[in-house]
This record gives sequence, C-alpha cells and structure tokens, in this order.
Amino acid sequence: MENCILVFVEQRSGQIKKASLEALSQGKRIADQLNIELVAALIGENVGDKISELPKYGTKKVLLSESPAWKYYSPDGFARCIVGMAVEIKPSIILFPGTAMGRDLSPRVAASLKTGLASDCTDLSIEESRIQATRPMYSGKLYGKVSIPDAKPSIFTLRPNVFPVLDPIDGLSAEVIYFPPPSSIEELKARVIAIIAGESAKLDITEASIIVAGGRGMKGPEGFNILQELADVLGGSIGASRAAVDAGWIDHQHQVGQTGKVISPSLYIACGISGAIQHLAGMSSSKYIVAINKDQEAPIFKAADYGIVGDLFEVVPRLTEEIRKLKAE
Ligand code: FAD
Repeated sequence: MENCILVFVEQRSGQIKKASLEALSQGKRIADQLNIELVAALIGENVGDKISELPKYGTKKVLLSESPAWKYYSPDGFARCIVGMAVEIKPSIILFPGTAMGRDLSPRVAASLKTGLASDCTDLSIEESRIQATRPMYSGKLYGKVSIPDAKPSIFTLRPNVFPVLDPIDGLSAEVIYFPPPSSIEELKARVIAIIAGESAKLDITEASIIVAGGRGMKGPEGFNILQELADVLGGSIGASRAAVDAGWIDHQHQVGQTGKVISPSLYIACGISGAIQHLAGMSSSKYIVAINKDQEAPIFKAADYGIVGDLFEVVPRLTEEIRKLKAE
C-alpha cells in the first residue's frame, strides 16, 4: 500500500459526511493520475455497515477502527489512530475533509508525523508528478499554490462544497483492514463523555450547499424568522454577518467571514448585508451569490451574480412564496 492516498472519511452518528465523499472523489482523481492506490480510513462505533458506501467512490481498501471507545469523536484518540494507520501503510498523501473535525484532526496528525499540511484547499493538481494545492491566502484576496516537497506524507484539508462528488458506481467491494484503537487510549488527555446538541443541530454552514444570510439590515433577532422560512423552502442553512452576531441576534456559529466561517455553498443569499471586505472573505467563493439590499450602491452587489434592490422585508417573503409555488407545481 506504500505511496497510496489515504482519505479520512468522517462520519457523525453513523452518517458519512458529504465532504468526506468529496475528499474521497478528489482522492480517486489524483490516485488515477498518479497511478497509485486510494485507501479510506473510517473510525467510529458501529460503522462497519457504512463500508459498502465507500467502494462506490473508487476505494478498494478500507482501514476500519471500530470500537465503543469511538462512540464520540476524540481529537487525541482519532489522531493517534490515524497516525497509527499512516505509520503502517505509509501513504504519500493524506486528505481530510475541511470540516470542523477534519480541521481539528489534520494538524495533530501532521505534527505527529512531522510533516507539512496545507489547509482549506480549493484545488489539487499534479504538476511534474508532484501534488500541488491551491488555497486562499490573506482572507481570499489571493490564491497561493503550495506543495510539500521535503516531507511525507503531504497532508491536505479540502474545502467542503468545492470538489465534485463522483457518480457512485454500485456493485463494487473493498478489502477491509481492521485497526484496533491504540493501546494508549486510556492515556488520552481529554475524553468526550456526552454531547449536548446546541441550538442548531442542523447542518453546519461550512457544509451547507444553500445559505440564506442576514446582516444588520434584519433589524433584530425576529428578522431572522423570514430568513429561516426562505432557508426551509430551499433546504438551506442560516448565515449571518458579524454585525448581526455582535448585536446578539444570532449565535456566532452562523457568522460568515474573516473571524467567522469560510463557506463555499452553491447558493448564497445575502440579505441586508453591506458586503464589507471581512464578510466577503468568508463567502466570495460561493458559486452563485444573490444580494438583497435597499442601497443600490452597497458593495455586496459587486460580488453578486444577481442583485435585488429593495426592502428585504418585502422581497424575502415574496421570494419564499414564489419558490414555494414553484416547488408545489
Ligand atoms: P452594515 O454594514 O451596517 O450593512 C447593513 C446593510 O443592510 C446595508 O447595506 C443596508 O443598506 C442594508 N439594509 C438595511 N435595511 C435594509 C432593508 N430593510 N432591506 C434591505 N437592505 C437593508 N464582518 C463579518 O460579516 N464577518 C466577519 O467575520 C468579520 N470579521 C471582522 C474582522 C475584523 C478584524 C474587523 C475589523 C471587522 C470584521 N467584520 C466582519 C465586520 C465588517 O467590517 C462589517 O462591519 C460587517 O460585516 C457589517 O455587517 P453588515 O453588512 O450586516 O452591516
């Protein structure tokens, strides 16, 4: 298996994350170009039945660590487990989905393996037989190309919603290689003993493909109710500007931008958001941006693909109604 690509497949409550399938799909594209093997790593409690999902995206080998010890995510424990796998199979590349878990794990693994990590990659390509990543720098003002020439394995986290998922191919199977939890598990510095779901057990905005976001123009917390209705008909999640978060109208986990989350949904609808540079840093790589603002000079319109100049309290409910009608047809 040496020189393979190892992809960490994140699951939560037994559900494989879409961002993991994106990483697996990109791993497959790169593995084909380099003519090397693609290997998936799956860690969790009672996740064995999810293995059959993985060969559909091109992997023929799955490293499985299944144990009651993995009921909850353990940063230290999962990292040790992946390091153990990497030491055993010696991959040349490790990919993580750029989810909260992937972003937490990847630096731990990179530090343990004394190698390099490029995070939040928006492209991976092969140049002169070497893998090269493109990643945003200076809050997305420019994109840099990064390679990790002097250390192995090269580790990358992939921004969610950027890399397309391959069409699944049914009827394929994978060899499963079992990895027990590391014997040092008792020494873990921190252990999760329970998870209390917060206000939004809904999809994290970094993984949502549709986001309806509100800013100071929402005027107050109740303004977000009309955004929630629009998000519900579209099957999306709620985002916010820092102004709305700082005002206490919505929790910080919804904040988009330089000091919030960086997102790449297919559709971003910005309502009552002016488009400050620090906000754009978090959402400018969205595929389609729609801005609703009563000020036609608002900078958000420069970033938007579609703009509606008007009062959001009139526009948003009408938009919701029209989409509801369209969906009912
Ligand atoms: P405003 O700029 O006040 O814009 C409100 C908009 O709503 C206006 O354009 C107005 O025309 C429109 N509006 C008002 N009423 C209506 C209506 N009825 N209908 C339609 N439109 C209406 N900001 C972030 O968002 N994320 C970050 O991560 C972030 N990080 C920062 C980090 C630093 C170091 C600093 C200095 C700032 C940061 N900011 C961040 C803050 C940023 O500079 C802006 O202050 C903030 O984004 C403004 O939020 P806003 O667009 O909601 O509010």
